Amino acid sequence: MSGYLITIGLETHVQLKTRTKMFCGCSLAFGTESNTNVCPVCLGYPGALPVMNREAVKLTVMSGLMLGCEINRVSTFDRKNYFYPDMSKDYQISQQAKPLCLGGGVTIQMPEGQKRIRINHIHLEEDAAKINHSARFSGVDFNRCGTPLMEIVSEPGLSSPEEAMAYLQSLKQILVYAGVSDCNLEEGNMRSDVNISVRPEGQEALGTKVEIKNMNTFKGIYAALEYEIARQLGAVSHGGVIVQETRRWEAELGETQPMRTKENAHDYRYFPEPDLVPIVLSAEQVEAWRALLPELPSMRRVRMMAEYGIPEYDAGVLADAKENADFFEAAARLCGQGQGKTVSNWFMTEIMRLLSETGKTITQCALTPEALAELVALVNGRAINGPTAKELLPELFNNGGMPGVLVHARGLGQVSDAGTLEAFVEQAIRENPKSVEDYKAGKKAAAGFLVGQVMKLSHGKAAPQQVGKLVTEKLAERV
Ligand code: ZN
Ligand code: MN
Repeated sequence: MSGYLITIGLETHVQLKTRTKMFCGCSLAFGTESNTNVCPVCLGYPGALPVMNREAVKLTVMSGLMLGCEINRVSTFDRKNYFYPDMSKDYQISQQAKPLCLGGGVTIQMPEGQKRIRINHIHLEEDAAKINHSARFSGVDFNRCGTPLMEIVSEPGLSSPEEAMAYLQSLKQILVYAGVSDCNLEEGNMRSDVNISVRPEGQEALGTKVEIKNMNTFKGIYAALEYEIARQLGAVSHGGVIVQETRRWEAELGETQPMRTKENAHDYRYFPEPDLVPIVLSAEQVEAWRALLPELPSMRRVRMMAEYGIPEYDAGVLADAKENADFFEAAARLCGQGQGKTVSNWFMTEIMRLLSETGKTITQCALTPEALAELVALVNGRAINGPTAKELLPELFNNGGMPGVLVHARGLGQVSDAGTLEAFVEQAIRENPKSVEDYKAGKKAAAGFLVGQVMKLSHGKAAPQQVGKLVTEKLAERV
């Protein structure tokens, strides 16, 4: 609707890839039985003392460096007080006064050009327990309680659901590249609270904001934003008032519903956490962590083009997901000089098709870079032909193994013996006089049909280029 401006801000909680919890030694294994990865600290027993997880600090600082933040060399923890069954000690240990990272941002690519979405800060905190509701009762699972989270708080600088999607995609890509999180949405590794407000054009102050809590799918966030924007515009354009509140996205109904009127920061009565000392980082420590940062996708794209001689388009598609780029590079290195484009062709056509058909990722399927490299080598060495290689791929993808073994076990080796091929060509010509007539009459496509017949006679094992050459020669003799 014209005449109004939309403002969106995101608070994104990202689960850090540590082995143990934020303040105790409990395991973070996913999918274990409820309340088995627990101890007095993460159960919130009175008197149990938290011990900070150093790895979580390192991963948060690395994220901050990737996102161009300034690192606070002295940072402190605070208690955020609230009463709810998912946090038995009645406060969450978080950071408010001095978070680990300040500023920074994410550059997004929109049809109208690039836009920099600024980050306000990144802080470190512990996750709450998970409440599972069943028909007649609710249960609390403390396995998740104490999971290290970094909360990335954007400035309210997004102005459409599309921009919010681009921001989250880009953020996820950077964090996965940095190796700080799996950002696995299904496992709740990346959850966002969404703040939205609308205001008339020309009005300086932001409108009253509504927060939608704890959204863990990009699709859901998009739909919730669209719904909420329409709801707010509908209200204000008819003289209505937006109430500051927290709402919940009801995916089945396709609408947001009020949860509670919004608390302000002072309602949480933040105060310094007395059981934890401040995090003090030396400049050397921060620099040592900076040295561990991986290439960003944009840098990797450029390097892969130079190193493997692949076009910009290919490099862009492959670098888009780190695991795809890792796989491609491993296979291309095994294949050696000059094979980059061949490997990239395999990946971008056959492998990508299998990935989308099965809904798997390259790390979840059974295909290895070694198997792909061997497949390419078998075709290059003319041990098998292209169609046979294409037939083998789904099997390697689903069941694993090496193509050389399959070729040997099944006698799939390519037939390139001149005498054998000639006999096939003679037979094809004998059995298809009509095609020979067509060819003589100038229909050159008839040669292709005969090549196909030879491939059929050889059960797909004939070397196609050689067959093509032979067919043309034999037909020429007859013209
Ligand atoms: Zn514990
Ligand atoms: Mn939080």
